[in-house]
Order: sequence, then structure tokens, then C-alpha cells
Amino acid sequence: MLDEALYIRQMAKKHTELFRNSIPMIASENLLSPLAREVMATDLHNRYAEGTPGERYYQGNEFVDLIEIKVTELAKKLFKSEYADVRPISGTNANMAVLFALTKPGDRITVPSVAAGAHISSAKFGAVGLRGLEPVEYPFDVDEMNLDIDGTIHTIMEVKPKLALFGQSVYLFPTPLKEFQDAFQEVGSHVWYDAAHVAGLIAGGKFQDPLREGAEMMTMSTHKTLPGPQHGMIVANPRDDKTRRKLKYAVFPGVLSNHHLNAMAALGVALAEHIEFGERYADQIVRNAKALGQALYERGFKVLAEKKGFTESHTLVVDVREHGGGKFASEALEKAYIIVNKNLLPWDDVNSALDPSGLRLGTQELTRIGMKESDMKDVAEFMKRIVIDKEEPKKVGQDVAAFKEGFQTIHYCFAEGTRAYDYEELVGL
Ligand SMILES: *Cc1c(COP(=O)(O)O)cnc(C)c1O
Repeated sequence: MLDEALYIRQMAKKHTELFRNSIPMIASENLLSPLAREVMATDLHNRYAEGTPGERYYQGNEFVDLIEIKVTELAKKLFKSEYADVRPISGTNANMAVLFALTKPGDRITVPSVAAGAHISSAKFGAVGLRGLEPVEYPFDVDEMNLDIDGTIHTIMEVKPKLALFGQSVYLFPTPLKEFQDAFQEVGSHVWYDAAHVAGLIAGGKFQDPLREGAEMMTMSTHKTLPGPQHGMIVANPRDDKTRRKLKYAVFPGVLSNHHLNAMAALGVALAEHIEFGERYADQIVRNAKALGQALYERGFKVLAEKKGFTESHTLVVDVREHGGGKFASEALEKAYIIVNKNLLPWDDVNSALDPSGLRLGTQELTRIGMKESDMKDVAEFMKRIVIDKEEPKKVGQDVAAFKEGFQTIHYCFAEGTRAYDYEELVGL
């Protein structure tokens, strides 16, 4: 079996090598900082700590408790919330906890639509369905690439949901939460904002501030624009003690037992770094996204929301129907070391998910490795050569890898400038 084990190591190295050469633009990914990565690899990985600090079921948690208290404090500080739970092991896991805490099977819940770029955890075939809920979608305004304001107010007033969910996986513009305030007041809904994609922008003060705009709680993944470990988190200003208690017990024993202590600790490092560097980082992410949108548009790409400046976040959406569609474009780009995902556009049928009209691009990781607005022109030009000019991807790929040589270190963190893709063999096999 040694061969099999070494095969896996070999493939992991090849994977790392692939990303060393690549332009990574999956909007949900990022690079862990050197210090967070170091903490990830400690003995914390081997341990269990069910419960909360001071209320544990296992011994050996002396330092785990100190870490968890500190990470929770940092989360509250970064998001200016009075409550934080840093235990959820992913964004979906955090979402399941909120659903478990605040709904009962058979309840109706209002959610963004698939056309709006909703995440699977808010769909009937995802966590919302698992809880036995009936999702009712807000209408979407394609011209604005945002929720239809009057239609959303109407939906809330009509459904009177106990829980109203906002936030998507394709997220170009802030949700107009303030416009819905009166409806929330009238109906008394818990307002829940899923910040998985935009958490790092929110914390950096660059997108919107949901907890100040009517949201009672935010869930998130901690590894998208917030560049932490793959983990999850809840921050909230619970309306009362009962809600606070429900949220706490929905996480444990509700939807998890152990909470992946190494990731929880690495999250603390990422939060501290974001308090220090997040504002600058978020600002550059959004600048780069706008610059990439403009550069692609000038080269003949149909970038959505052109009239609105393409985006206010890290994300861009491009309609590539006339250039062969999302499947063709994403696969051709991959052959040239440009990593993006194909994506449904608002007018696509859900059944065309395997060959949709669009591409989704994110600039958070390019920013993390030091790219600035001027570099976005190079990225756009590579994309044009492949998708529009139909140049041989392998040939363009050589130029991409050479360009990427200039972006091999991590930024906006402590030990800035550390090499991003180096790995160490720890055992002599
Ligand atoms: C990514 C995402 C999640 C959760 O993803 P995980 O992979 O479980 O961390 C939840 N909601 C939205 C809107 C997302 O984009």
C-alpha cells in the first residue's frame, strides 16, 4: 500500500504545481496565510473539544479553551457583533445551524432565487429542504442584477416568514436591506444574511454592513474573500436571550460534535490579520474586479452589469454564449492554466447547469498574490486570446505560466512575501 499512499502525495504535489502556474479565479477560493497554515498543522488537528470553553466533555482542552475564547473575541471585534460562534466547520454547516435554531419542519422561508445566484444550501434540494422547509423566492431584477425591491417587499409581506434569508454565491451588488426594513418590522422576521462570499469585503468595510442594515445574524464560509481556513462562522446581534441560546445549541449538539480545532485556531490568525490588513485588501479586491471587468469589456467580452460598473464586489459574470458557451470557455481556459467556473446566468434554465451561458470570475486570490489593476489587462488579454481569438490554449498557457512567475508570494498578512506554493516533505519516504 506504500505505493498507493505515495501516489496520493505525488498527485497532491502535482496539484500544487498546477496552481503555482495558474491564474486562479474561482470566486470562492483563497490562499491561507503562512502563520495560519502553520497553526493548521499543529497537534490541534488530532483533538476533540465538544461544547464551549469551560463546558467541555473531554479533558486536555486547557489551551483549546484559551484559543477559542480569543478567536471568538476577534470575530466579534472584526464584525462588530455582540455574539459569535466560531465552531461551524463550513458555511453550509453554519447555515444548517441557523435553520435548525429558528425554523420547524413545514415552515416557509424566503430566499434568493437560483437566477439571483443562490447557494445550494438555501434550496429545496439542499439544507432548506433537509429541514423540511418550503422556500419562497424573491423576484430578481436582471437589469439591476439585484433583488427586485418592490417584489421582495411584497414577498415578505405575503409570506410573513419567521426567517428571511439574503445573500448569494453570485454576488455583484449589495443587497438593498435597508429598503426592506419596514417589511421586516411589520412581519417580525429574523433577518439572516449569508455572507459566505463577501465576508472579507464586509469586514474590510467595502461592500455593505448587514448587521447595521437590519440583519440579526450573518453566517459565512471563512475561506472566500475572508482568506482563512476552510471553516464556517456565525456572528449576530441576537434579538433576545432565547434566540442566542437557540443559536448556540443548534451548533452543538445540533449540527456538529467536534469543531475541527486546528481550523478554528487558524481562523483566529486569519481574523487578526484581517483586522490589520483587511481594509487595504478588500479595497484592492474590488478595484481589481472593476478593472478586470473593464479590460474584458474593452476586448469584446459581454461582461454583465456594464452600466453599473460591472461589480461592487470581488465577482464578475461574463456571458460567453457567442464564443462557444460556458463549458467550452471554462475548459479551454483550464488548458491554459486559467481556472474559472462556468455559471448559470439569470435567464438560463436550471437544467443547463452543465453547459450554461456564463463564466463567474473572482479577483480575491489574484489580489492576495499581489496583482493590481494594471495586471488585470494581462489577465483579460490571455482570456481573449483563448476564448475569442481561439488561439491554441497550450501555447497561451506557456505565457500564462511565465506571467505567473511574477506572483508567487502571499500578501495582506503577517510574514507578507512568504512563498505561496512551497511545500516541505516531512518524512523520508
Ligand atoms: C460557499 C457558500 C456557502 C457555504 O459553502 P461551504 O462550502 O459549505 O463553506 C453558503 N452560502 C453561500 C451563499 C455560498 O456561496
